[in-house]
Parts: sequence; structure tokens; C-alpha cells
Amino acid sequence: MTDSDAETTAEASDEADSNGVVHLVGSGPGDPELLTLKARRLIDEADVVLHDKLPGPEIIETIPDGKREDVGKRAGGERTSQAYTNERLVELARSGKQVVRLKGGDPFVFGRGGEEAAYLAEHGVDFRVVPGVTSALAGPALAGIPATHREHASSVSVVTGHEDPTKDESAVDWDALAATQGTIVVLMGVGKLPEYTQALREAGMDGEVPVALVERASRPDERVVAGTVETITRVADRENVEPPAVTVIGDVAGERDRVREFLRR
Ligand code: SAH
Repeated sequence: MTDSDAETTAEASDEADSNGVVHLVGSGPGDPELLTLKARRLIDEADVVLHDKLPGPEIIETIPDGKREDVGKRAGGERTSQAYTNERLVELARSGKQVVRLKGGDPFVFGRGGEEAAYLAEHGVDFRVVPGVTSALAGPALAGIPATHREHASSVSVVTGHEDPTKDESAVDWDALAATQGTIVVLMGVGKLPEYTQALREAGMDGEVPVALVERASRPDERVVAGTVETITRVADRENVEPPAVTVIGDVAGERDRVREFLRR
């Protein structure tokens, strides 16, 4: 390749980029140092960053005011609809913008990233995916809880706690989860903690199985609250646990007691 060929290629790709592109970027659990290098660079280079609250203030505050758009809660506390976000992504990309759609954790783990990707593809918009550190694994890890363990857990299941387990049509099969004997990580699981711990008990899980709630993992005010399948609802109530928090259910949650004295952050 001659020098002039190289220039032509560079020009051609510049032109392709001027069409605008959307990056579906995972922010990790909240600590700015848990952003990937690629996420950091794309945020810095973006014309617009669409975000909600989940990336957390420590990260959101590093984005200049002028280029961020909050598509989480709007004035009046009403949630921006997914349809609005989808449409806004397409509109910005079509006007030639470099867009970052910043999502807490990993964009494809309970982040509706898949829906946004499908919408962009349907509308002929180029996009890229930048994986992030998911709270499902980072939450337990930061609390000193290994998601898997040679002695305790050969599998880890990540499920939503948002659905009511007492409903027949619940998409999460708590009986099957109890039967895996592996680790269960529940996202969006603060509100329905009493319902799904009860469902696990009814599925035959021992009430003594350790449970930990990791609240605001990696943020300055991170907190871990621990109990058992039997006691955790009461403990969470007493301690006023609030979202975002991940629930870790399984013998691995007990490993924390072995290491916590020396666990430094
Ligand atoms: N895509 C995200 C999950 C989005 S669903 C990810 O991969 O992490 C939202 C849920 O994620 C919250 O209800 C909570 O269960 C969990 N979550 C996200 N960030 C968290 C954090 N810093 N600490 C604890 N839980 C968190």
C-alpha cells in the first residue's frame, strides 16, 4: 500500500463515520475506575451521552453537562418511555452525531440493550456494543463473595426479582433454581425479597442457606447486609436496604465471613 492509498482509505472511513453511530456502552457498577478504557474514551469523544440514573453520580458527574441527556426520570418523576429513547437514538445518529447510550453494568444484562440494538438495526443505524462489568458478578466480588467455588457452587444463575413469584406466569422458575444447588444472583430484587425467599423455601431450600444483599456496590456508600434465606427479609427491613442492590443466595455468601476481616477496598 502506498502512502496515498492509505490516505484515501482514511478519508473513506472518515466519511462513513460522519453518518453517526450509536455505542451501547456498559458503565460498570458505579466506580469510575471500573469503566473500561473504551467506555471512558467513547464518553469523552461523544457528541451526546444518553443515560439514566443507574451508572451512578460518580460517573455521570464526569460527563460535561452540555452533552448529557437523562433519559431516566423526567421532571415530575415520570419515566421516559423506552420508545422515546429508541427514537432519540435514531434521530441523533441520523443527524451525524457520535452517540453513547450509557447503561449501568453491562448493557445486555437486564439493561434492555438488546431491544435498543434491534431497534437501531431495524432503522439502519450503525451501532457497536461495549460490554461493561455487570453488577451481577461485581457486586458479590466486591463483598468478598465468589460467584462460584469449588466446594460450594458449580453454577451461578442471574435472575430478575422484579416478577411476582406468586403469579402463575412468572418467567423465573424458583423451583428449578433451588434445584441447581448453585449460586443465585437476583437483580432488581429488593422489593420482592419476601416473595422469592419464600418461593425458594417452598421449593425445599434450607432456611439456613446464607444470603447477602450488596447495596450500591463499588460506590462510596456501598453496604453489605447479610442473613439467611429465613432471616434476610427481616434484616433488610430493619437495615432499610434500598435499590440498587444485588441479592446473592447460596453457600458462597457464607465465604464472606472467612475473608471480610482482611478484605480491603
Ligand atoms: N445492566 C445492569 C443491570 C440492570 S438491572 C448490570 O449489568 O449490572 C438494575 C439492577 O442492577 C438493580 O436493581 C440492581 O439489582 C443491580 N445493580 C446495578 N448497579 C448496582 C450496584 N452498583 N450495586 C448493586 N446492585 C446494582
